[in-house]
Amino acid sequence: MPGFELFGALERKEVNDVLDNGVLMRYGFDGMRNGHWKARELELELQKQFRVKHAQLVSSGTAAVSMSLAIAGVGAGDEVIMPCFTFVASFEAILMLGAIPILVDIDDTLTLDIEEVKKSISLKTKAIMPVHMCGSMANLQALKSICDTNNLFLIEDACQAIGGTYQGIPLGSYGDVGSFSFDFVKTITCGEGGAVITNNSKLALCADHFSDHGHDHQGHDRGAELHPFLGYNFRISELNAAVGLAQLRRLNDFIGIQKKNYTILREALSQIPEIMFRTVPDGGVENYSFLNIFLPNLEITRLVSKAFKEEGVDGCFHYYDNHWHYIRKWEHLKELKTLYPVSLDVSKGLEYLKNKSFEQSDYFIGRNLSCLIKLSWTEAEVIDRAHKMAQIIKRML
Ligand SMILES: *Cc1c(COP(=O)(O)O)cnc(C)c1O
Repeated sequence: MPGFELFGALERKEVNDVLDNGVLMRYGFDGMRNGHWKARELELELQKQFRVKHAQLVSSGTAAVSMSLAIAGVGAGDEVIMPCFTFVASFEAILMLGAIPILVDIDDTLTLDIEEVKKSISLKTKAIMPVHMCGSMANLQALKSICDTNNLFLIEDACQAIGGTYQGIPLGSYGDVGSFSFDFVKTITCGEGGAVITNNSKLALCADHFSDHGHDHQGHDRGAELHPFLGYNFRISELNAAVGLAQLRRLNDFIGIQKKNYTILREALSQIPEIMFRTVPDGGVENYSFLNIFLPNLEITRLVSKAFKEEGVDGCFHYYDNHWHYIRKWEHLKELKTLYPVSLDVSKGLEYLKNKSFEQSDYFIGRNLSCLIKLSWTEAEVIDRAHKMAQIIKRML
């Protein structure tokens, strides 16, 4: 997945353009910047590559998810349905707005279980937020139809799935609004950064203002700008955007390399009948950033995970025992450990987590290994790795 593996001359050139004039900010300073508008250029490139009307860059993927919820009007006491397998940022973004994350089970797609989503809708539900974990998506058509029926927003956290598609549509652009992360370990990186994409012009205008303190960006005198509503500072810097610009232009190449490496590993592991692969919904194409497998049970998965580590097969995650990505280890959320008082709505709204079990998700996450696909492997290295993985797994079965 990580674009940082292929950082080179193209990235350096874009960054040097910015260093040459020293304008590190994306707005203003027109006379000093020698026509360099890296953030603006990157937004245009995102629009082109993802065939969307609008793209708004921000300072991180977490900011992007927060903002996509904010512009959809999600706020105090609203409920947002999300999966119990994701990165912690997904619920942080919801809590930032005073809203309540409603965590539901995942299925063998490793994303939202549609039936569980239906059961979780209440009068307070405002949005459904699928998270396209490890490069693949939920059944978005089913989710869209639930959203249409119940008048909810469909907000995609596509931070881990840039370059994947569903029914021919780029992930992130299927719902009302979608988010990408360009942090250092994502498929393409800005160092730190993120983006929100949408075809909804009203939401896009809100994103433009919200990410820059609510400034309306009219005219050429920043101090004279008005504020139609309150905002925040979620701006990206020109330096970060410059790196992203070079990286985004290489996205198709990156996906091509990932696909090639993924396919070699997958074909080797397909020879072992006990291994199942993650289900990709009909019409979905992964971005090949991870190969996700299911082993027969939790014990075998733990043994394989340990042996992989000991025998040099790095980058395979057993999220069941991991503190970042799965509900089982999110004590800080379950016990609502905050630095500051939270509203009664939120503390009451999260009480369900004290008793709720996620057995179905335990069943899938317990047996899942998620293997990162690197860009820098040579073909010989991938073949060797495939062989090693197959040998270890066979030994543990
Ligand atoms: C990385 C990630 C984020 C947050 O992105 P940052 O840029 O690190 O803030 C949000 N959601 C998911 C699923 C992620 O993987």
